[in-house]
Amino acid sequence: MVNKTYNDLRQSSIDKLDTAEFDNAEFEVSELLAYVLGTDARSVDFREKLSEPVDKDVLEHFEALVSKRIGGEPLQYIIGEWEFYGLPFKVGEGVLIPRQDTETVVDVAIRKLRTEKDLVVTDLCSGSGCIGIALDKNLSCKRVVCVEKSDRAVAFLEQNIKLNNSKAEILHGDIFDDDIIDSLPQSDLIVCNPPYLTQDDMQSLQLEVTHEPEDALYGGDDGLDYYREITRLYKDKLCDGGMLLFEIGIDQEDEVMKILIQHGFINVRTKKDLAGIYRCVYGYKKDRAKIYTDSIIF
Ligand code: GLN
Repeated sequence: MVNKTYNDLRQSSIDKLDTAEFDNAEFEVSELLAYVLGTDARSVDFREKLSEPVDKDVLEHFEALVSKRIGGEPLQYIIGEWEFYGLPFKVGEGVLIPRQDTETVVDVAIRKLRTEKDLVVTDLCSGSGCIGIALDKNLSCKRVVCVEKSDRAVAFLEQNIKLNNSKAEILHGDIFDDDIIDSLPQSDLIVCNPPYLTQDDMQSLQLEVTHEPEDALYGGDDGLDYYREITRLYKDKLCDGGMLLFEIGIDQEDEVMKILIQHGFINVRTKKDLAGIYRCVYGYKKDRAKIYTDSIIF
């Protein structure tokens, strides 16, 4: 009997995932197989290995992972590491998986602040640290402070700071705690991907998302609790002219822009992600020169 190759195994597993109605069966199977083979799914090495006969231990390991995946465990948790903004991030139960949508937030910050030096950045609800660490690596930052409440997320955050050789600092605590707010520096940028799903969204989560921490997802009845509270509590932590930048959920742009405007932010804007969904809202705290000019004109 001819031995099965990894390519045969790959094909039969794609069929299994297709039958289980996975949208990206080929991608997911390749990622899992490359992971058990200790290589990268996009490498020549992986393509070469596909024609080799299947090793029994690798087969058992791979099949166990495919079963987990069919059971709904997120691919990223199974693999334990995921790429965001070209950087590696450790992930697992207890921390939100970095999503491509969130790269829009990082893009906006980089585009707006790339000519500035020695920035002080605060990343609220930091989770894996993907936003804060990506900004540290791509902007001229003096300090990046990542605030995170969950013990489990902080464990990943610590690893990710080391893994990416970042100078980001961790402030372990609740963003609504007065002591935490007091201990934060005045910042040029306050960025946050808060929990923003509504009560209705929480009733209809994709199976994978139910594995992620509810605390990182649920933003109150209308999904907007964090935007209201953060804008109110943190506007005084911004330097004059500083930027407040939020990731938002689908159709939240009008409400979140309104919140920023109500709190006196200027040049409030929204920006779409690659799927064409408005994904972030940002605005600036008026600087003194601007306030002075406004008072002369009006
Ligand atoms: N983008 C996530 C989702 O749709 C939600 C993350 C969040 O609430 N910040 O599942």
